[in-house]
Amino acid sequence: MKRDKRVLSILFAMIFGFASVIVGIVIYNVRSLSIIREKDKAETIAKLVKDGLTAHMVGGIMSKRELFLNNAKQSSGAKKIWIFRTPKVIKLFGKGFNNEAVRDKIDKKAIQTGQIQQKVTDALINPTLRITIPYKVSYDAKPNCLRCHINAKDGDVLGGISMVYDLSQVRSQSIKTVLNILAITILFALLFLYISDKLLSPYTLVLLYIKDALKSASNGNYRYKIDENKCNQGSKETVRWLNTLLSKLDSVVGAIETNISLFVADRSRKFNDPLEKSKSTIQDLAMIYRFKRTIEQDTSKEDIYKRLIKVFKDQLNIADLSLYEVNIKNNKRHLIYDDTPEKFCEDADTNTFQRCRAYRTKSVVTSDEFPDICQICKSTKEYLCIECSIDENISLIINIKPDNKDDLRENKKAIGYIRNYLESAKPILQSKILTEILQRSNMIDGLTGLYNRKYLDIFMDQKIKQYDSFAIAMVDIDFFKKVNDTYGHDIGDIVLKGLSDLFKKSVSKEDIVFRFGGEEFLIFIPNIDIALNTAGKVKDNFENRVFNVNGGNFNKTLSIGLSYYKADSDHIWQVIKNSDIALYKAKNSGRNKIVEFKDVDKV
Ligand code: GH3
Ligand code: MG
Ligand code: MG
Repeated sequence: MKRDKRVLSILFAMIFGFASVIVGIVIYNVRSLSIIREKDKAETIAKLVKDGLTAHMVGGIMSKRELFLNNAKQSSGAKKIWIFRTPKVIKLFGKGFNNEAVRDKIDKKAIQTGQIQQKVTDALINPTLRITIPYKVSYDAKPNCLRCHINAKDGDVLGGISMVYDLSQVRSQSIKTVLNILAITILFALLFLYISDKLLSPYTLVLLYIKDALKSASNGNYRYKIDENKCNQGSKETVRWLNTLLSKLDSVVGAIETNISLFVADRSRKFNDPLEKSKSTIQDLAMIYRFKRTIEQDTSKEDIYKRLIKVFKDQLNIADLSLYEVNIKNNKRHLIYDDTPEKFCEDADTNTFQRCRAYRTKSVVTSDEFPDICQICKSTKEYLCIECSIDENISLIINIKPDNKDDLRENKKAIGYIRNYLESAKPILQSKILTEILQRSNMIDGLTGLYNRKYLDIFMDQKIKQYDSFAIAMVDIDFFKKVNDTYGHDIGDIVLKGLSDLFKKSVSKEDIVFRFGGEEFLIFIPNIDIALNTAGKVKDNFENRVFNVNGGNFNKTLSIGLSYYKADSDHIWQVIKNSDIALYKAKNSGRNKIVEFKDVDKV
């Protein structure tokens, strides 16, 4: 593993910065101290020179001062030294020697201000310190200045002394000190870094291991373990705890994810992190739970189908789909919903569903396997079909019609989710189907399979209102009692069943046949134009039907009374009554005939 040098770099930068500050302070202080020292020296020399010159003056040997001044120069250690006098002194004692004149601006300023002047010249090669000290008249001085300088007064500047000191020695000394400090600092810094590196690197290495472990955990891999043997003694315990925590997370999160995913199909394959997967699965479960609670309150199977379609469209973004219900008992596939732009499945008929690949194989069928994989698919474009068995008789088939291959890929991702919804709806659909069967059986005649009188009452009360016109045919078998009397009740039942099968073939799809009483039947015919024709077909077909009993054959006839809603009466139940009256007429006028209510009086 690559070592992280960042910490060491920061430490090095800190030490270097610290050393630079120290060096700066040392340079400044050495320079200031040297100046102070040279200034003190200059002031002493100035006083000495002043006293010496005064003594020369009082002793009257002012003309011999040259020697004194030379000695003073040598003992001062100054590079240059000169004295100068002011115009007042010149006026009294003359100009003096040539070199006792004011030499520059600094001398002048010292005379003007009466203050000590100092100037440091930081030349690269020869740095110097220039000090000029003015000599001032003082009444308190001994001997009194005014004894000789009769034209002066207290505070007057009479002259001064200037000295120039060489600072190059001080500078070289400073540089030497700085270099020494730097050398020591660098030495200590290197030593410090070396020791720090030795002490810190095992910890920084462990930090890197921990970082990798946490990074892998945050990406969903809790199996990552840090090798304790690679860690130093001080960090082993921390690493052990981290490894324990990761193991715990791995087993707990893994178990949660595995167990939860049993409830719903794996829709969250996009997540690598089992925690994220579990979260997504729980969200799916919550939505399915809400869906289940909602459909429990739905009243019919059709309502649940509608809700399923809405979920597929709204939540799974399936644009075009159709839903079929296959009922093996009826041998029919029934279209429940279809919003596909073009019909891509053959029309529902008795055999179609048996050729439907999804139904036959009970598996998901997609066009990307082979475009013409399903025999009944008419489309050459993409499709996706899913089968779901609700119970042993009823299955649902969902046809999804994606626009293109990308959509198909997206829709395929939703298969698991579609199945989850279908599975959760299954028990509720089963109970609805059972309830419907029970309700229907309560309204269906057990012998003939036709609607019974009870349903006729419901039909007349609730459903008939939607029809503007209709005809009622009341049908009765002629001399049926004879069948019972001659062949027995069982044969009578066979005749009744035979008639009900014959009804199915003779009446049109829209007509409804009820068993009205023992051997009396009622046909509801919405299309009044074909009512007479339908009644005729029933009568003729029955007459031609030959019953074979114990080697003997017989056939029976029917009498039928016909009445029309609106034409014969505005009251629904009166229409039934009228048809019964017409039937009575048919019986009384010879049987085996159809009588319309309007002709009752003519027959
Ligand atoms: P008509 O031509 O006047 O109608 O004579 P009919 O013999 O058909 O008339 P009737 O009403 O006298 O007889 C009806 C008979 O139908 C009486 C009854 O025993 C019989 N029947 C009623 N329901 C059933 C049934 O479910 N099975 C059998 N086998 N017979 C039934
Ligand atoms: Mg009869
Ligand atoms: Mg009868």
